[in-house]
Amino acid sequence: MTSPLYRRLPAMHQLLEAPWLREAAARHGRRATTAACQEALTALRARIASGELRSASEVDAACAELPRAIAAELDAPHRHPYTGVLNATGVLLHTNLGRAPLPWPPPGELEGYLALEYELVEGHRGQRLDPIRRRLAEAFGAEAGVMVNNNASAVLLLLAAHAAGREVIVSRGQLIEIGGSFRLPDVMAASGARMVEVGCTNRTHLRDYEAALGEGTAAILVAHRSNFRIEGFTTEPSLEELAALAHAHDLPLFMDQGSGAIHDLGRWGLPHEPTVQEILAAGADVVCFSGDKLLGGPQAGILVGARRWVEPLARHPMFRALRPDKTALVWMERVLADHWEGRLDEVPLYRMLSLSVDELRRRARRLVRRLRAAGLDARAEATTAALGGGTTPGAGIPSFGVVLPGGERLAAALRAVRPPVVARVEERGVVLDLRTVPPGSDRTLETAVLAAQGSMNQDQSQDGA
Ligand SMILES: *Cc1c(COP(=O)(O)O)cnc(C)c1O
Repeated sequence: MTSPLYRRLPAMHQLLEAPWLREAAARHGRRATTAACQEALTALRARIASGELRSASEVDAACAELPRAIAAELDAPHRHPYTGVLNATGVLLHTNLGRAPLPWPPPGELEGYLALEYELVEGHRGQRLDPIRRRLAEAFGAEAGVMVNNNASAVLLLLAAHAAGREVIVSRGQLIEIGGSFRLPDVMAASGARMVEVGCTNRTHLRDYEAALGEGTAAILVAHRSNFRIEGFTTEPSLEELAALAHAHDLPLFMDQGSGAIHDLGRWGLPHEPTVQEILAAGADVVCFSGDKLLGGPQAGILVGARRWVEPLARHPMFRALRPDKTALVWMERVLADHWEGRLDEVPLYRMLSLSVDELRRRARRLVRRLRAAGLDARAEATTAALGGGTTPGAGIPSFGVVLPGGERLAAALRAVRPPVVARVEERGVVLDLRTVPPGSDRTLETAVLAAQGSMNQDQSQDGA
């Protein structure tokens, strides 16, 4: 016999009328919302069947809670992997938030089919990399360029193509680890090249490189200390000296520049980082770097330099495994054009970098006024942003933000709202740095902060009950 308790459950159409679920349907669509309602109703029936809910009042209480619980489940982060967030950390190239934010909207070419490997004039098969390779060579004033999936691929391919089974000389001061999984010695080993370490952590001399040269040497590799600094009693030969040494032995000088600096960072008040162009001018034969760091583009690895060393890369069997996908190619082409045709404002990274502190202060004050009007104890204060992403270690960027009283609990509540807000917890409170929040998103940030605060108050009153 079926229990009369089942009859107390709401019908689907009634459930969907609840304000919580009407809002949820607007965010997540009617289909997902209906599915979540079905799931929740099934679970409730199971609780009745198992005897967990025995009285009419117990079932009614569970039904009353249903719309809010379903909406919360629909909003739960585990249902939305790769969700867009508001980055209020002030770290512009945030490794965990996708490094460089991409120009938006995406290039229109990405909609539908595109002439990716197709020669439109002749109507036959073309080479997908040709246009970007021409663009790279032109942009960097290099003989040749090529693009792969990321910079780790670039280093791997470079070493596999030119040094497999032979030796590559590297200074002990440059055995870098980036982002936890790129470790130069490991990439070197995977490429089949043998690493010959020279010098010491703080000091490596030209004569150390010279002494290591031998029959089996394939190249000299210089790696940029992207994410750390060595200070004090230090020395290293210049790139010019290393290039002269390598060339005297008919060997190439490779540089893993990493960050992809192409403009003088001094323009934005940051310490100068040698640019790719300067490194090429100093005599490096191939320079490689990431596309999603200072270039502000999609994930990619770019190699530019001498034809003799770059051309063979695109013919190497490994290239097919490491080549970029069409989205990265189209986006990269657009970002490179923006850089070299003087439209830096179109590249989100540089738009954020160029915001004046005055402008950020104005936005912070406006936001604080509104939050205070809603009863929050917010303050507008000076903050320090950073480039991040393994670039310019230790260099701060003057910025402005909103400080909220609270700690990890508030930060967690901010991450739980939609869109999630990722903030910084400091001694003085939870800091929302506005440099990394797109100017058009201040209202969204305000709503998110109020929602987070609201959910905290609700939890508190429940704890107290
Ligand atoms: C960032 C970086 C890498 C790794 O680049 P990915 O694009 O993340 O693969 C390698 N070397 C240096 C010097 C870097 O700065």
